[in-house]
Amino acid sequence: MKTVTRSTCCYCGVGCGVLVEAEDGRITGIQGDPEHPANYGRLCTKGRSLPLTVQSVTGRLLRPEVRATRDAKREPADWSSALDLVAERFAQVIERHGPDAVAFYVSGQLLTEDYYVFNKLAKGLVKTNNIDTNSRLCMSSAVTAYKKAFGADGPPTCYEDLELAQTVLFAGSNMAYAHPVLFRRLEEAKAKHPDIRWIVVDPRRTDMAAMADLHLAIQPGTDVALFNGMLHHLIWEGMLDRAYIDAHTEGFDALKALVREYTPRMAAEICGIEERALLQAAEWFGASPAALSLYCMGLNQSSHGTDKNLALINLHLATGQVGRPGAGPFSLTGQPNAMGGREVGGMATMLAAHRDIGNAGHRAEVEALWGVEGLSDRPGLPAVEMFDAVRSGKIKAIWIACTNPVHSMPDIVRVREALATAEFVVVQEAFAQTDTVPYADVLLPAASWGEKSGTVTNSERRISRVQAAVDAPGEAKPDWWIVNEVARRIEAKLSSQTPTLFGFDTPQAVFDEHRRLTAGRDLDIGGLSYAKLETDGPQQWPFAADAVQGQARRYTDGVFATADGRARFHATRYLPVAEPVDARYPFRLVTGRLRDQWHGMSRTGRVGALFAHAPEPALTMHRADATRRGFKDGDLLTIASRRGSLVLPVQISDDVASGTVFAPMHWNGQFLNSGGINETTVPAVDPHSAQPELKHAAVRVQAA
Ligand code: SF4
Repeated sequence: MKTVTRSTCCYCGVGCGVLVEAEDGRITGIQGDPEHPANYGRLCTKGRSLPLTVQSVTGRLLRPEVRATRDAKREPADWSSALDLVAERFAQVIERHGPDAVAFYVSGQLLTEDYYVFNKLAKGLVKTNNIDTNSRLCMSSAVTAYKKAFGADGPPTCYEDLELAQTVLFAGSNMAYAHPVLFRRLEEAKAKHPDIRWIVVDPRRTDMAAMADLHLAIQPGTDVALFNGMLHHLIWEGMLDRAYIDAHTEGFDALKALVREYTPRMAAEICGIEERALLQAAEWFGASPAALSLYCMGLNQSSHGTDKNLALINLHLATGQVGRPGAGPFSLTGQPNAMGGREVGGMATMLAAHRDIGNAGHRAEVEALWGVEGLSDRPGLPAVEMFDAVRSGKIKAIWIACTNPVHSMPDIVRVREALATAEFVVVQEAFAQTDTVPYADVLLPAASWGEKSGTVTNSERRISRVQAAVDAPGEAKPDWWIVNEVARRIEAKLSSQTPTLFGFDTPQAVFDEHRRLTAGRDLDIGGLSYAKLETDGPQQWPFAADAVQGQARRYTDGVFATADGRARFHATRYLPVAEPVDARYPFRLVTGRLRDQWHGMSRTGRVGALFAHAPEPALTMHRADATRRGFKDGDLLTIASRRGSLVLPVQISDDVASGTVFAPMHWNGQFLNSGGINETTVPAVDPHSAQPELKHAAVRVQAA
C-alpha cells in the first residue's frame, strides 16, 4: 500500500517540510511540502536524497549489543537485558560516586520529545546537570549573546524577513551551502529587487561572496574589530537611531567610549581589509531602511564567539534595526532541532523552558512541575569539559546519543582517550560505522529519519510535527522510548517509592508535559498540541493558551525580556584567536561545510550521488603559497597542529588568502586513515558560552 506522510527534513535548521512516500514498509520517495512555510515545496540536494539514506539496512544497527568487559567483543543482546544493564551500571556509579559521576552527551538531531526525556532523566531523576549536547558546538554563543543583549534566548526575526530586508549582512555563514533553501529565498528577493545589498563577511571567497555587492575577506577571528570599526563610523557620521537607543537600551555610553579607539583605519588593519570597504559596509548598514544580519558558525565556533555575536547585535541596537520587518540579528541554527533542545533545557547550563540552573525560583518551579525535590544547583559540565572529566576519571559512565563526538569534537585525540578511560560507555545510534561506536560497552539501536515521531523547532522558532512513515528496521527503537525505559529502571533502583516520573507511553504524552512546563515563560506554547500542529500546520513560539497565532517577530514594541525591559549594549573588545600562527605553525586553518555533505556523513555518506560535488576532502591553499612550496594540485600533504595531523590532497585556489588554508569538516575515520580535521583543532572555549573554537587552528603543511 502506498502512503504519503507529512514530516520534516532532518538535516539543517531551515527545517523544510517534506512529504514522505512509502510503499510496503519502505520509503520510496520524497517531495518538498508545498504548504510548509520554511520551504514552500523546495528541497536542496541533501533533502531530496533522504530516502536513499534509509532504503538499505546495510550499515544500520539492528539489535542491541553488549560486552561483559572492555576487552571482550560485543555480542547481540535482547532489549530487556541491554536496558537492565545500562540501568544497573548507571545506578551503581551514582550510588558509589554520586550523581555527577555520570553524564549524558546528546544531539541537536534528536526530536524535542527525545531531548525532553533525556533531560528529565539527568536533572529530575539522577540530579546531575551533566547533560550536554553537540548544540554546544553549534549555537551556544548565539544563545549566550541573545540572553545577555535581549534577556532571553531565540532570534527576534522570522523567515519572512529574508524577503523584506534591504541590506543583508552575512557574517560567518556560507548560507548557500549550509542553509540552501533559505538562500534561494534571498536570491529570488534580490532578483526581483536588485537594489537589495548583500555584504558578505568571510575569510574565503565562497560562491556567495562572489555574488555579493561587497565581500569583506577579513582575517579569521577579527569580526569584533570589524563590527566595532563599523559602529565607530556610524557614531562619527551621526547614523544612529538615538531615539531608539534612549527609549529601549542600556549601556551605550560605555560602548561608545570603547569603540572610540576602533577607528575604521585601525579596525580595517586588524581585519586585513581596505578601510573604504569597512566604511562602505557601515554606511549601507546604517542607512538601510531594513538591515538583516544572518550569521552562523563563523561567529559561534570561536573562543570569543559570544563577543562576536554581541558586537553584531550592538550594530542592530544602535541603529534601531530590531523588531521591525526585514531587520534584526538572525542566528541560523546549524542542526535541525538545536532550538527544541534548548526549549526543553537539554544542556548543562540551563533548565527546562529557558529557566536557569542558578536561579532558586526556577529550580523550585521545575521541582513542582515534575514532582521532585532537590534539583542540583551545581553547574553541569559543557561538552569539552565533560569529555575532559571523563578522561580524568571524574565522570565514570557516559551515555552518548545520536552524535559522533570522536569526529565532531575539537582535538579528538583527547576524546578517544576519554572514552578509552571511562568505566562504562553507552552509545545510542542508528548507524554502525561511526567513530564513536567502537567505544560502546552497550550499543542501543535507534530509529532514524522517517521512522519516528515527535516535533522539532527550526531557526525561526517554528515547531513542526515529525511523523514516522515506516517502522524502524530490525529491533531499532525511537530514542524517547529507549531513554524512558532505562529511566524507569533507574528510578526503580534509586527510589524506594513506586516509580512515577517516566510514565510516558507515547511521544505525545512527552510533548504535553513539555508544553505544561513552558506556561508563562518566554517560549510559552500552551496553545499548541499535536492536533493543532497537524490541523493548522507548523507554528512559531511563543503561542500561549489564549493566543490565536504565534509571534513572527519579537520585541516589536521595543520591550525586551530583561528585568527592566531594556536591551543591553555590551562593550566588546577585539581579542585574537586562541592559537595564533607562528614560525612552526605558520598557516591559519579554517574549517567549514561543503554543499552536499552533512556533519560527519553518517547519513549523507550513504548516498553516492552526494559525492558528485566533492568526491573527496581536500586542503584548499592559495596559489602563491603552493607555488612557493612546490605543491601541485592533488599532491598529498600532511596538515599538522600541536595536537595531531592528517593527510589530504591539496586543492590550489585563489579563494583563500595567502597564509590561510581551508579544510572541510565532514570526512572522518569511516572514510580516511584519520579521524578528520578535528585531529588538529583547538579545544579552547569561549569563556561565556563554553563553545569551542572549531573554526580556527594554527597548522603547518608539508608534503606527505
Ligand atoms: Fe533539508 Fe536544510 Fe536542505 Fe531544507 S535546506 S532540504 S532542511 S538540508
